Amino acid sequence: MRKKLLILPLLAFMFFASVAQAHFLGYDSVDNGEIRWGGSTVYSSQWNSAISTWNGLDLIDILPDTWWTFQDLTVDDVNRSDVTWTGQYTNSVGSDEIDLNRYYLDNDTSAQQQNTATHELGHSLGLAHSFSGNVMYYAQTFQTALGSHDQSDYDYLW
Ligand SMILES: [Zn+2]
Repeated sequence: MRKKLLILPLLAFMFFASVAQAHFLGYDSVDNGEIRWGGSTVYSSQWNSAISTWNGLDLIDILPDTWWTFQDLTVDDVNRSDVTWTGQYTNSVGSDEIDLNRYYLDNDTSAQQQNTATHELGHSLGLAHSFSGNVMYYAQTFQTALGSHDQSDYDYLW
């Protein structure tokens, strides 16, 4: 989940409590080394770029669902003013889900939209929130490339 608000005391706590620790959710959408995805979003270029970014790291392949594969992840757009998040990953029985919130994202820059898409896809890979300077930082930023901790968490987990 991605929030726009900064909570500095929490951030300071996370920094001092978590240095040198890895950040994992304990669940993910990976099935046999793959995430097969379906659904659609108006942010398709950001979504496809997010897939390319994570596929640039080895081991897990994020690929479109087919007739003969099980859909692990569904991407969808929502338009919700009653929440503060720009994107949300939900892990569930059956296909997991990434919701992209047009209520905020439609007014965001392409880089912010990219940041949210790459971040939520990172959650589906099992990554939890980490430090500033990384895509998995809890708040939305303009960062589109993976940070060093994004990569080390991924390498440690996979
Ligand atoms: Zn998040």
